[in-house]
Amino acid sequence: MATRANDIRFNIAYHPTPYPQAMRKDLVQIGEVCDGVYIPVTESDLAYMANKIKYCIETSKELDMVPMVDLWGYGNLFACGAVPSLFTVQHPEHNCVTNTGRTIPKSCPNKPAVRAFFRDAIESFVEVYEPGGFFLDEPGWGLAGYLGQLTDGEWACRCKDCMRLFRERYGVTMPRTVTRQVGQFRAESMLRFLSELCGYVKACGEHFVTSTCVMTSDAKSFQNAVGKTRNLDVFGIDPYWRRGDALSQEEFVDRHTGAAVTIGGKHDLEVESWVCAWQLNAGEESDVYYAAKLMASHDIDYLSAWSYRDHVSWTPCTKPNQADPELVWKHLRRAFQEIRRGKIQIVT
Ligand SMILES: [Zn+2]
Repeated sequence: MATRANDIRFNIAYHPTPYPQAMRKDLVQIGEVCDGVYIPVTESDLAYMANKIKYCIETSKELDMVPMVDLWGYGNLFACGAVPSLFTVQHPEHNCVTNTGRTIPKSCPNKPAVRAFFRDAIESFVEVYEPGGFFLDEPGWGLAGYLGQLTDGEWACRCKDCMRLFRERYGVTMPRTVTRQVGQFRAESMLRFLSELCGYVKACGEHFVTSTCVMTSDAKSFQNAVGKTRNLDVFGIDPYWRRGDALSQEEFVDRHTGAAVTIGGKHDLEVESWVCAWQLNAGEESDVYYAAKLMASHDIDYLSAWSYRDHVSWTPCTKPNQADPELVWKHLRRAFQEIRRGKIQIVT
């Protein structure tokens, strides 16, 4: 655990532009304040823009930053913008089945074929791209809005494999409602899945960093289960506070960053907290500065932000009152620079 602010390492998520010169310019700017870059990589990227990813990883290393690969939306099991998994589309036979009997576009982590897909993906990625590590962002059983979303009372997974494993574990048929046992089963299943993935990474080399991030909306029991992941180096949380939330920014960040520090401490993991730097509104640009400062007052090891320049391309064209991406970056840079110098208190 970091014990002083100037032990904290800084990262930012960066969506690689397809043009190398522009990418280098961005990464040089990021390298002025960051120690690492989280690179969202989709299955489609590797099928269609492999060189873009390679250049991003190589340039990050050249600039002395750790390139962490975010397996973005792989198997539709992790966070993603709106780029569906190719594997999930190509192999619906390995998809989750909900309690209503509906097959949904999400690969089931309890199926051996899905785990084999991830093992191959990790091994071949290491072989070709040599990243600094892997990021498994917001693992969960939900279904993203762009994939159709689960209806009220609908949940996954109740496929044959999950039902068999449930019966082996509890000796009864898996219920159709979310009981305490179902909740426990799903958390334990995710723990086993993440442990396997981190094991695949470490089998490629102990030096590859393994990192994950839970959501503030995840049940405490789920967060705790993820914290037990074997071969995991970094346990993260993303307290994405926005104006209008019931809690103040300070209360929200303190509550969730503090919870991550507690879980990380229990399992001797490094801890990471994520600043909300995406789709902000005009006038809210300095929120990233305050969030970073509040997080740095906790015993964290990594302070990271999603994402570079407010990920302006991601912002819907119809969104009114968009934040100024240059201002968001300016405030974030300032926070990172001050914290690096050991200045945690907010400077107005
Ligand atoms: Zn299943």
